[in-house]
Amino acid sequence: MSMTVPQMYGSLVFNDKVMRDMLPKDVYKALRKTIDNNTHLEIDVANAVAVAMKEWAVEHGATHFTHWFQPMTGFTAEKHDSFISPVEGGEVIMEFSGKELVKGEPDASSFPSGGLRATFEARGYTAWDPTSPAFIKDGTLCIPTAFCSYSGEALDKKTPLLRSMEALNREATKVLNLLGNTAVTSVATTVGPEQEYFLIDKEDFKKRKDLIFTGRTLLGAMPPKGQEMEDHYFGTLKPRVAAFMKELDEELWKLGIPAKTKHNEVAPCQHELAPIFDTTNVAVDHNQLTMEMMKKVAEKHGYVCLLHEKPFAGINGSGKHNNWSMTTNTGVNLLDPGKTPGENVQFLVFLTAVIKAVDKYADLMRLSVASAGNDHRLGANEAPPAIISIFLGDELTAVLDSIENDSFFGKKEKVQMDIGATVLPHFAKDTTDRNRTSPFAFTGNKFEFRSLGSSLSVAGPNIVLNTAVAETLSEFYEQVKDVPADKKDETIHALIKQAIIDHKRVIFNGNGYTDEWVAEAEKRGLYNYKSTPDVLPVFVAEKNVELFTKHHVYTESEIHSRYEILLENYSKIIHIEAKTLTDMVCHEFLPAVQETIAKSVDLASRKKVLSAAISVKTDMAIIEKLSGLYDDIFEATMQLKKDTETAEAMSDALALAKFYQGTIIADMTKIRALADEAEALLPAGALPYPSYADMLFYV
Ligand code: ADP
Ligand code: MG
Repeated sequence: MSMTVPQMYGSLVFNDKVMRDMLPKDVYKALRKTIDNNTHLEIDVANAVAVAMKEWAVEHGATHFTHWFQPMTGFTAEKHDSFISPVEGGEVIMEFSGKELVKGEPDASSFPSGGLRATFEARGYTAWDPTSPAFIKDGTLCIPTAFCSYSGEALDKKTPLLRSMEALNREATKVLNLLGNTAVTSVATTVGPEQEYFLIDKEDFKKRKDLIFTGRTLLGAMPPKGQEMEDHYFGTLKPRVAAFMKELDEELWKLGIPAKTKHNEVAPCQHELAPIFDTTNVAVDHNQLTMEMMKKVAEKHGYVCLLHEKPFAGINGSGKHNNWSMTTNTGVNLLDPGKTPGENVQFLVFLTAVIKAVDKYADLMRLSVASAGNDHRLGANEAPPAIISIFLGDELTAVLDSIENDSFFGKKEKVQMDIGATVLPHFAKDTTDRNRTSPFAFTGNKFEFRSLGSSLSVAGPNIVLNTAVAETLSEFYEQVKDVPADKKDETIHALIKQAIIDHKRVIFNGNGYTDEWVAEAEKRGLYNYKSTPDVLPVFVAEKNVELFTKHHVYTESEIHSRYEILLENYSKIIHIEAKTLTDMVCHEFLPAVQETIAKSVDLASRKKVLSAAISVKTDMAIIEKLSGLYDDIFEATMQLKKDTETAEAMSDALALAKFYQGTIIADMTKIRALADEAEALLPAGALPYPSYADMLFYV
């Protein structure tokens, strides 16, 4: 008998209901306190939780446990230990202690540390994050953990994320209490990430070295039909794709991941999945799991799931939309305009805090979405531009305008600004098309950060958002906290107005794809970092180091280590691409061109033997054209090889990344243009790997 969805949902998760059912009352209470209030967990409580967790896991078929963590590779890592413990008589029992639950010591030496481990302790440890529930995957109990060095330096993506949530919690709660909202004792950020991906046939994938080694195609002429008909978006799901999606949903539901929406995307073979939002660290864990499950379930259906930002040139790539808001422990969404004037002030304070944060730290937001893969999308008229700006919609912009001009909302005559007395309307999500071009859009009661690449861990962008908003809230608090009660309203109104005046330059409701916007943004003094190596140095800029250290999100050495890792990672990716392209051109592409030329030469000479009068015009034209391209491709490939060797000898990490971005990518682009031109002249089946048409229209 098959399970119903509610039965299935969360069936592999050690969630609140399981804890309530299985834990002694006092243990449950103590654990809840730790989860809700971030308090320290005593070892006897941990022991009791471990026993219950193990019993539950074994009952559900688990034999192993692992501390599941998110090192700076951006992937997840796990090392499995079995529960078995030998007892007398050559038998085993299943055991799991509080110590094993709370702390692990993986051999950390092969995870990137950006030099951190050289200067500190050699080993790292993992620490349980009780705020994200444990789950069972492939017979293993997975315990979400943070990964740190022994001196407490973060070696992962979760630790700074939790710290940033804590910073926002602290500052937002202070501001709410200051505004008289004393019932609030904590504020959490919420995230709902929409995930795009491609599915291609496994047999096709296996034949393409570029997909295997780099996740994207480095060669490939456009098929006669691309995405111009726009017939794929929201189109009917093909049965095989539908079967994949059904199983994916079920696997995610079992893991307590609230997969909600699924549909075809713009490009052929492209799809999207969106969950219902959750607390940020849970949403981040869930998004990592979602990407992993997509790959796993795809394999079972004879597909490979591509999460690269740009698998196919000339066809839309994949991104991820990070829907973000803040919510109080009393259940109020702080970006919801609310129903009473009091809530309006609160809304406007938090709204302007976000606007100010995005304007001040737009460079960090751009940094947080920078990757070699995403460089193909940002600013390429399929994803938001590289310039970070905010879309507010006409209604909300009008409200801010009227505050700025002391004619707040609906009042024609110039009056004393009186936010308290007017109820804001609910701002409908703007459905105009241009809104799709904005990197950071207000959508009624949350912001949607749309610049993320599809393979990115959503931790990074949320670390920046949380910390930047924590900072602007703390500035607000400092400016209001000592103001006498009778002057408080006036001060708050003045601060809201000042924030609008100072930071409205970041608001842009128009079409972000136009050249006019690029020019206008430059006039406004907004950042426009075009590539990853361009933007990475902002990580170590003084103002940004100050931000992160002030709020205890990163230490200075953590920032420098991450900067090193990002630079290194970028160069490594382009290096592998260059080597793969060289290999494919030399071993697969050029031999295919050679063979086609040889066939034409053979045909032309046989025609000549038959009779001098038979035309060889076309044969000669093909020989000439392909021979020319053959020489050019070879020459360009030798140049790439030479430049790659130059890169290998360089030692300065930033200079190296810039060299890869400038020189190596230009070499690769040149080779590809020539090869794609030649490919159009090759007979079907001449290449040992599938073409764009083969891959994209037969799934
Ligand atoms: P769409 O953008 O497709 O119209 P929605 O706007 O309803 O759909 O939601 C998009 C995503 O935003 C979903 O993942 C949803 O759960 C998430 N979301 C909705 N409200 C919030 C919130 N307060 N905080 C974070 N994410 C949210
Ligand atoms: Mg969206």
